[in-house]
Amino acid sequence: MPVSASSSRAQVRWRRSLQAEILTAWSDRLHRTWARELEAETGIDNGLRRCGGLHVAGSEAGRRRLAAALARWRDLGIRCERLDGAALAAREPALAGAVARGVIEAGVLLSDEAQIRTSRHLDALHASCLARGVTITPATVHGIAVTGDRVTGVDTTAGTIRAGHYCLAAGSWSGGLAASLGLTLETVPIRGQIVLVRLPRQVLAWIVSFGLDYLVPRPDGRLLVGATIEDVGFAADTTATATADLMGVARRLLGDIPDERVERTWAGLRPGNVDGVPSIGRAPRQRNAWVSAGHFRAGIHQSTGSAVLLADMILGARSPDRPVFDDRAFDPARPAPADPGHGESVRAYLDRVAEAVAAPP
Ligand SMILES: Cc1cc2nc3c(=O)[nH]c(=O)nc-3n(C[C@H](O)[C@H](O)[C@H](O)COP(=O)(O)OP(=O)(O)OC[C@H]3O[C@@H](n4cnc5c(N)ncnc54)[C@H](O)[C@@H]3O)c2cc1C
Repeated sequence: MPVSASSSRAQVRWRRSLQAEILTAWSDRLHRTWARELEAETGIDNGLRRCGGLHVAGSEAGRRRLAAALARWRDLGIRCERLDGAALAAREPALAGAVARGVIEAGVLLSDEAQIRTSRHLDALHASCLARGVTITPATVHGIAVTGDRVTGVDTTAGTIRAGHYCLAAGSWSGGLAASLGLTLETVPIRGQIVLVRLPRQVLAWIVSFGLDYLVPRPDGRLLVGATIEDVGFAADTTATATADLMGVARRLLGDIPDERVERTWAGLRPGNVDGVPSIGRAPRQRNAWVSAGHFRAGIHQSTGSAVLLADMILGARSPDRPVFDDRAFDPARPAPADPGHGESVRAYLDRVAEAVAAPP
């Protein structure tokens, strides 16, 4: 049967996103091992907790997407269980009101979903690197020197730094530096804002995902409400509108929460690849230049697998528990998707991610 250009593009995209999901599942396993090892080595508990997650939906479209996500999770061997409204309310009494109001009608329970305290994780990684003799030089890179098929140094505010191999991992800023390598990276900054709410007592036991929004209960009683997905260039500030929108989500799910409960808000820039899959691998023109960028909403989650995969690539090694990947899926030099694709607007991309990643409310 002939395959149309658009259906073959869709297949390529589907195969790539499947590779990204395999990377996520592997990274999950690595996080559990790393958390234990980092604590033993550095004494820092990075806060990795398997608290479980409830993915909930209200509208019919949301429930259809949740059903599709459930099938994907099952294919990947992820433990999951479908719940109707009554079962959801029984599992998470704080959501009983939302179920009664018809905001939520169905859900999926992922008992292995976990949370981590990112800043503590970075502290632990930092301490572990220092203990292993790694030199960390805080500096801004403003140029990459290339001779023939090799990078010969990076010019930084701390002077020129030379190494055997170089890895470009500058998040949303990677595209500008990649140009020095003759590489086009379609990594765009996507702002995310988060609200931290201080409740008198913790009401949630599970992470609750509602479409692309989520509530993360911290053991200290606080609640993270996240996160916006905004195409506003490199502006990394917070806005009152976003805070109000996020508080609106929290109130739809949990009932009234006074504004005074907002303790903090913050924003960051996610490095979003236009095809939704990270770039991990060798730069096409230099033998000793590597890239790890474009992880968008999953860069913390996928960090462990990405690091081990990249280290394997550089060393020409194969970590024992590494899944079989089609490495081309992450190739930094893969062609940007053609129309709709090359030149696909970030908005169209975000709409597609919204469809694919989770069930909207
Ligand atoms: C609100 C919000 C919530 C999120 N929630 C989650 C989540 O729940 N789970 C998850 O997995 N991910 C989440 N993410 C996404 C995650 O934070 C990113 O995917 C991840 O941080 C990407 O890591 P990175 O190292 O590639 O880029 P970054 O974290 O952006 O780091 C890049 C670094 O490079 C530095 N840099 C840039 N240019 C230069 C230069 N010229 N010289 C030197 N240094 C440079 C930058 O200063 C920065 O420190 C969230 C993001 C946001 C904003």
